[in-house]
Amino acid sequence: MEFKNSTLIKLLTIQCLSFCCLAQDFDFFYLVQQWPGSYCDTQRSCCYPTTGKPDTDFGIHGLWPNYNDGSYPSNCDPSSPFKQSMVSDLISSLQRSWPTLACPSGDGSSFWSHEWVKHGTCSESVLDQHGYFKSALDLKAKINLLQILMGAGINPDGGSYSISSIKQAVKNAIGSTPGIECNVDEDGNSQLYQVYICVDTSGSNIIECPVMPSTDKCDSSIEFPTF
Ligand code: 5GP
Ligand code: 5GP
Repeated sequence: MEFKNSTLIKLLTIQCLSFCCLAQDFDFFYLVQQWPGSYCDTQRSCCYPTTGKPDTDFGIHGLWPNYNDGSYPSNCDPSSPFKQSMVSDLISSLQRSWPTLACPSGDGSSFWSHEWVKHGTCSESVLDQHGYFKSALDLKAKINLLQILMGAGINPDGGSYSISSIKQAVKNAIGSTPGIECNVDEDGNSQLYQVYICVDTSGSNIIECPVMPSTDKCDSSIEFPTF
């Protein structure tokens, strides 16, 4: 009886542990990049970071753990706050590649902190804080989105481009179709806002998207504003 009980307890413990841990796991990442011109030309407008106007380039919004059914975990570890000291060697790269455009102006740390707490803590089984930010930076460096689009004649010139040509240009360059999110400028025109690229759970390999983001529903032709 005693043997049976202790076996039962062990089994229950194992089940509970695997439930708790697996429940926080994820299937893939979205690397989400934002076009600063489209963040800034809206009714809400934007504020440049205290470090100055960002480059004319896509910036990282986040690296988001996701499930294959389209849902996603968030805020997975309240005991793991963002610590700038853990990424001190990455700060200049973060300022350049992951600039904040929200108002009031900031140096980026509150944006990085928000992304770590909401999303990064859900992939801690794979990437610690340094690994999380390093992976996002390395991915962005590997995928030069602006160069890819401009190489296909899709320029940030206020012109109008078909969604299919944008998706095809990225697919031709990286082998995987991206998700595209649009927003509207002050005049109500639909425009290229964010690009979602799917990445495996290691945070380093681009994959076909298991599911497109729910925000992938632009008009067939959209504007690519200047910045
Ligand atoms: P929105 O409601 O503006 O589309 O998204 C608000 C926030 O929810 C995003 O910035 C992001 O933090 C989170 N979010 C929205 N869609 C997704 C998604 O498909 N996957 C993940 N992981 N997060 C998302
Ligand atoms: P998410 O939508 O990822 O949950 O949250 C984005 C949060 O980060 C918002 O609270 C937003 O104010 C803040 N934030 C700071 N800088 C930026 C930025 O450059 N782009 C976006 N999309 N959000 C930013």
